[in-house]
Amino acid sequence: MSSEHPDWSTAGFATRAIHAGQDPDATTGAVVPPIYQVSTYKQDGVGGLRGGYEYSRSGNPTRTALEEALASVELGGRAFAFASGLAAEDTLLRAVLRPGSHLVMPDDAYGGTYRLVARVLAAWGVDHTPVDTSDLAAVAAAIRPGVTGAVWVETPSNPLLGVSDIASLADVAHAAGALLVVDNTFATPALQRPLTLGADVVVHSTTKYVGGHSDVVGGAVVTATGAVLPLGATGPTGSQSLADAVAFHQNAVGAVAGPFDAWLTLRGLKTLGVRMDRHSANAARIATFLEEHPAVGSVIYPGLESHPQHAMAKAQMSAFGGMVSFRTGTLAKALDVVDRTRVFTLAESLGGVESLIEHPGKMTHASVAGSVLEVPDDLVRVSVGIEDVDDLLADLDQALA
Ligand SMILES: *Cc1c(COP(=O)(O)O)cnc(C)c1O
Repeated sequence: MSSEHPDWSTAGFATRAIHAGQDPDATTGAVVPPIYQVSTYKQDGVGGLRGGYEYSRSGNPTRTALEEALASVELGGRAFAFASGLAAEDTLLRAVLRPGSHLVMPDDAYGGTYRLVARVLAAWGVDHTPVDTSDLAAVAAAIRPGVTGAVWVETPSNPLLGVSDIASLADVAHAAGALLVVDNTFATPALQRPLTLGADVVVHSTTKYVGGHSDVVGGAVVTATGAVLPLGATGPTGSQSLADAVAFHQNAVGAVAGPFDAWLTLRGLKTLGVRMDRHSANAARIATFLEEHPAVGSVIYPGLESHPQHAMAKAQMSAFGGMVSFRTGTLAKALDVVDRTRVFTLAESLGGVESLIEHPGKMTHASVAGSVLEVPDDLVRVSVGIEDVDDLLADLDQALA
C-alpha cells in the first residue's frame, strides 16, 4: 500500500478543497487533520525541529493544513492564515507598502478595508486614492508610477456588487511596477480564481464563505507562484519574493489563525463548492423575484442582465454568488424590511449557510459614512443562504408587503 498521495495540483476544485494539505495523519491515520492545540514543540537537540515546528506563532500543523489547502484551491504558490480578514489585509499591506507608498483602492471597498487604509495606515505615511475600479482609465490615472505599490480591487464588491476586470487591472498595475491585490471574499475560489487572471495576491475574509457557517473569524493571503514585491523592492529577509515578505510579516506581526479556528475554517472549505452552487442558485431566484417586485426600486446582482458589468462577471466568474443588494426608495422602508424578515436573520456578516439581511448604511458600512465610500441609505443587502428557496422567497414577500 502506498503512502504517496495523488498529485492534487492536477485535480478539480472540489477534490483539492477536500484533500490538498489534508493527508491522513501519519501516526494514527486520522482522516481529518487534528487540532494541534499546542504552543511549543520538543526539539531533538537545539535546532532539531520535527517537521519544522518550533512555536505556534511561526507554524502549527493545523494551520499548515489550512494554508496548503487554501494555496491549492486558489491555484497559488503559498497561503497564510490569519486571525481575521483585516489582520490578513494589514499584514499584506505592511509587507508590500512603506511610508511614502501609495495605494489605489476601490471607491466601494468593504468599509473595514477603507478604515484600515484611511485611518490606520495613513497615519504611518501610506497614501491612497479611492477610484471606480470598473473604470480602467480612472485606475490608470490614479496610479503614481514609481510610488504606487499596489492596486486593490474587490470584485464583486461589498455591498454594491460592482464587478471589475481582473485581467485588465493586472495589466494596468504591472505596467507601473505595482501589484494587483484581489479581495476574493465574495466570489470565493469556487467561482473565480484571480491568480489565474494575472493578480499577484488574493486576500480573503474566511469568516464569510470559506468558513461558511458563521462560527469562526479568519482571514487569508494567497500569493501567486513567483510573485515579487512591487517596484523592485527587497523584503526584510533580503529576498524579492512576495511570499517570503508575507511569511516574515506573518510571524513578526503575529496575527495568526489559532489551531481551532484553522480547523473550523478547513472544515468549511471542504464543502465550499456545493455551497456556492446552492448560494448562487438561490440568489439568482431571489434577484429575479426582487426585480419584479413593485416595492423594490433597483436590484444589484451580477447575474442579472441589468447589472452594468454582467458580461464581465459572466466572463470571469463561473456563477454569480450569494450576495444580492436592493434599494427600497427610502431609509424608512429599508429599515422596515430588514426588521420584518423571519427566515432572513438581521445581522452583520455574510456567507454562512443561513440567510442574513442587513442595512449597510447603519451596520456594516457605518464606518464610511461621510466619506467618498458612503452607501445609499435605502440600500438593503442580503446574504442568501442555502435554505429551501421557497421559504426565502415567501419571507421576503411578506417583509415587503
Ligand atoms: C468581512 C470582510 C472583510 C474583513 O474581514 P474580517 O474577517 O471581518 O476581518 C474584508 N473584505 C470583505 C469583502 C469582507 O466582506
